[in-house]
Amino acid sequence: NSNSQTCAINPATGEVLSSRPYASQALIEQAITRAASASKVWGNTPLTQRAAAITRLASVLESQAQTLAQTITREMGKPIRQSRAEVAKCINLCHWYAEHGPGMLENQPTQVPGQQAEIAFRPLGVILAVMPWNFPLWQVLRGAVPMLIAGNTYLLKHAPNVPASAGLLAQAFIDADFPVGAFAEINASNDGVSTLIADQRVAAVALTGSARAGEAIGAQAGKALKKCVLELGGSDPFIVLNSANLDDAVSAGVAGRFQNTGQVCAAAKRFIVEAGIAEAFIEKFVAATRNLVVGNPEDEQTDIGPMARFDLRDELHRQVENTLSQGATCVLGGEKLPGEGNYYAPTVLTGVTPEMTAFQEEMFGPVAAVTIARDAEHALELANLSQYGLSATIYGDEHQALQMAGKLECGGVFINGYSASDPRVPFGGVKRSGFGRELSHFGLYEFCNIQTVWKN
Ligand code: NAP
Repeated sequence: NSNSQTCAINPATGEVLSSRPYASQALIEQAITRAASASKVWGNTPLTQRAAAITRLASVLESQAQTLAQTITREMGKPIRQSRAEVAKCINLCHWYAEHGPGMLENQPTQVPGQQAEIAFRPLGVILAVMPWNFPLWQVLRGAVPMLIAGNTYLLKHAPNVPASAGLLAQAFIDADFPVGAFAEINASNDGVSTLIADQRVAAVALTGSARAGEAIGAQAGKALKKCVLELGGSDPFIVLNSANLDDAVSAGVAGRFQNTGQVCAAAKRFIVEAGIAEAFIEKFVAATRNLVVGNPEDEQTDIGPMARFDLRDELHRQVENTLSQGATCVLGGEKLPGEGNYYAPTVLTGVTPEMTAFQEEMFGPVAAVTIARDAEHALELANLSQYGLSATIYGDEHQALQMAGKLECGGVFINGYSASDPRVPFGGVKRSGFGRELSHFGLYEFCNIQTVWKN
């Protein structure tokens, strides 16, 4: 990126795909004006029609599925099978909210006698969303679809390296006949984002990104007295108890760590393994990781593509080297792969202890850090020894895992299955993983004016 423009680079080849200037103040002003006037129209559109528009959006995404998946792969290197799965997940999300959203937005009774008081869900207005590149469609739509069905309008500031994905999304809303400005995309710089947050016509802010971005945007939203939801980073524990089914734990651990080339907020990042099963787990986990196919993300058989940005690979490698210099052992990988592409070898580090970098920082790439716990209680203690609290996975006896779930400091616990976001359940974190929730009815209500209507 230079000071005046952003640039998209195919991480598999290093080829420059496109560049575009940052939005000027005049363009920002125009985008806010349009979003604000669209919000009057859209907010007063009957709920059934808003839901129907979301169903039309699903059809448009379906008709564009191939182009969308290829664009994701080209811009950020996601293996094509996973890009297709991302598009399918978005279509499912639209159908889910079109079906269930209207019921959630119906007025609710209260305990005030005689049905004198009820609760209504009104839109807030224009919502600014600052989004990351790792799921260029899903991250946007999992916020936008519930916000829109609730009658808000959505102004997207996407990550600079996925402009074509952002453009295709904006076009999909036009093709689905949403009013002009109900969903718009703008290439705002960080200063442009500040202008947007401060503007009184913007009602609230949603960010999915790093804790660093969360600090910056949360502070500005606070200063402007605006609601914000922050979905930030994670360093999720993947706990393997002695009672775990070893093969299931290994395959879920590999999928949970290495999907999307490890660039998932709620990926399994710290493997905390009870001593009795540790040796067997590590052996099988390393063997399964070695079998992952690293290569061109456009190939059907590829499991691991390039990392999305060259600077992020440098950062990941620095974290690996630090962890090794602190005394961990590299049993697999630990290096950048040679060539034009931005590939990093799938890596397993063992002997990782709480003071080491790989335990303390988020490892946003294909690197697994393994820590051995004396027993289940120690595993719990290690799991909570993190600045983050997004989600956690436990493999092992279900009863024991359920007891542990209540003591885990995080927004989601997944037992005998790796963590995932799903429209039916809330998603979000505690501690430095942020606050607020996306998805389910909780996500829907985050961006509603929850209004009491009391008839006397
Ligand atoms: P990032 O650097 O924080 O960027 C995310 C978005 O925030 C980008 O659009 C970025 O735009 C913008 N941004 C960053 N600083 C900003 C500022 N001061 N003012 C305005 N906008 C700002 O994160 P990333 O590297 O793209 O994504 C990886 C991070 O996101 C990881 O930490 C990951 O865990 C987290 N994540 C969290 C979730 C979740 O649901 N909790 C989901 C996915 C990813 P610029 O690049 O233009 O600054």
